[in-house]
Amino acid sequence: MDELNDNEIVESQEGFVEEIPGVITTTSMAINDFLKKTVAQDVINWGRKNSLWFLTQPMGCCGVEMIATGCAHYDTDRFGIIPRNSPRAADVMIISGYVTRKYLPALKTLWEQMAAPKWVICMGDCSISGGPFYESYSTVQNIDKMFPIDVFIPGCPPRPEALLQGFLELQKKIMAKKDNATDY
Ligand code: SF4
Repeated sequence: MDELNDNEIVESQEGFVEEIPGVITTTSMAINDFLKKTVAQDVINWGRKNSLWFLTQPMGCCGVEMIATGCAHYDTDRFGIIPRNSPRAADVMIISGYVTRKYLPALKTLWEQMAAPKWVICMGDCSISGGPFYESYSTVQNIDKMFPIDVFIPGCPPRPEALLQGFLELQKKIMAKKDNATDY
């Protein structure tokens, strides 16, 4: 079998199947595209929506509500929603409260450290529109331009029940293939 030249390798990385006589070849992208068109994607999504592990990086007062949601009283484990302390092990980032311009680079780093597929929940008026810090010099006002947010939860602060409802809405979006994590 001839060795692939550089151009063929580039094409392979972009998802094209190589034409080699007598040999069936494929790529991970081709497998991924195939799965999206089958019922297998529904099974995968069922697993994903029942294991939404969220990163515990509280910001502002909404962060306290986020922590309370993860405690025993609300028992989020029954939905597969479990708090995680490492971005490597988390699927969901909750932007809980105001994001200052100084903190934004750290938030982006945490997001980039999370493995795909991953989702974002925007919690509280501060993160959605600035809230009490609207047009403040130090607070980020357009967080939806920086992160692919799936669910917005208004309130100041939203109660844990509202965050739980937000998670359930995210689960519905994942099963309906309308979430931002996967390009269906
Ligand atoms: S939305 Fe309200 S509760 Fe949440 S961080 Fe802003 S001021 Fe605090």
